[in-house]
Amino acid sequence: MEKIKMTTPLVEMDGDEMTRVLWKMIKDELLLPFVDLKTEYYDLGLEYRNKTNDQVTFDSAEATKKYGVAVKCATITPNAARMPEYNLKEMRKSPNGTIRAILDGTVFRAPIIVKGIEPYVKNWTKPITIARHAYGDVYKGTEMKIPAAGKAELVYTNEAGEETRELIHEFDGPGIIQGMHNLNSSIESFARSCFNYALDTKQDLWFATKDTISKKYDHTFKDIFAEIFEAEYKDKFDAAGIEYFYTLIDDAVARVMRSEGGYIWACKNYDGDVMSDMVATAFGSLSMMTSVLASPNGYYEYEAAHGTVQRHYYKYLKGEETSTNPIATIFAWTGALRKRGELDQLPALMTFADKLEKACIDTIENGEMTGDLYLISTLENKKKLNTEEFILAIRKTLERLM
Ligand code: NAP
Ligand code: MG
Repeated sequence: MEKIKMTTPLVEMDGDEMTRVLWKMIKDELLLPFVDLKTEYYDLGLEYRNKTNDQVTFDSAEATKKYGVAVKCATITPNAARMPEYNLKEMRKSPNGTIRAILDGTVFRAPIIVKGIEPYVKNWTKPITIARHAYGDVYKGTEMKIPAAGKAELVYTNEAGEETRELIHEFDGPGIIQGMHNLNSSIESFARSCFNYALDTKQDLWFATKDTISKKYDHTFKDIFAEIFEAEYKDKFDAAGIEYFYTLIDDAVARVMRSEGGYIWACKNYDGDVMSDMVATAFGSLSMMTSVLASPNGYYEYEAAHGTVQRHYYKYLKGEETSTNPIATIFAWTGALRKRGELDQLPALMTFADKLEKACIDTIENGEMTGDLYLISTLENKKKLNTEEFILAIRKTLERLM
């Protein structure tokens, strides 16, 4: 069989620990035998990030701007325990944070749905994709404890030195205050990323805030989304047969619970933090959650939502058997390959991505799975495979589909 051709390289960002082990197995068993894989390789493993003072992370983000599509392995975000373990020169920043800052993107997370892994909300038959705004609000807030009676105000001083004041509260005893901000430019990028991603995936977009209570702050989010939608996206949404839907956050939560899924839910920073954990848990498994960073300029970086699965890696190093789920990492590759195929008009590459995803799902639905899924699957005839056996089982299914 002739291998499927690519024309533009993918930006390949390798990573750490167990997911680095999976990365190589996925390439060797599921990609290289079928695709004439073109990638520009960046080693984002902690050792090399440390050696290059993180230059490799910056370079990989710049390469993503050049080529448009990246696929990323999970990486360690160092904490104190990692300093001696990796002999670090300094505490390295989170690569995801660095890349996101350069691409100015929004992260979209969606579950992979298979028979036997039933969501806790039984009417959720289609994935719900959460888009979380990743800038500002309470995450860049300034807080103060008010010790005793006194007046608290918001003060804005413009460049000419003129002040505008708003009373927060006239305290007659101790209390607390918080100041937070956001930027129109950041909200605009968030909105465009969401509208683009909705068009990309042909799904409705929902957005919600508390604008009835927060008449300036949250209302600005609502207005910016509405203005950009009307001016730039309404016709495209009509043509694609999808909808942009705005409502209040509490109404959105009620509708989400009653829905069957199949849409993108755009959330402000805090709402996204809370709701993404709720939605991910309700869909069953972190190892079945995909993640893509989409920028307002149309750059994409695909990855798994989970981390480097450190506990499994330490078992692997000791030569013990592991049963680590590669599905979200495989879907990062298929997402990136499909997008590359779409941009370069390579239908064979897009079909390959579809088939590899189908091979993953069919394998699990036939009862062959890793330990994490084995624990929660409702299938009657199920078998727990180790990491390697599972990847080989997917390969067998894929060969039948090709
Ligand atoms: P984690 O890697 O997500 O794993 C947490 C636990 O979830 C695992 O111990 C395992 O549970 C289960 N799990 C996650 N993915 C799995 C998979 N594919 N197959 C089977 N089980 C899976 O989180 P962590 O161990 O807290 O973090 C490890 C490192 O990852 C940290 O250094 C962190 O900085 C990094 N991290 C990176 C990213 C990223 O690059 N996007 C995201 C999050 C965390 P059991 O042990 O019970 O089997
Ligand atoms: Mg959180």
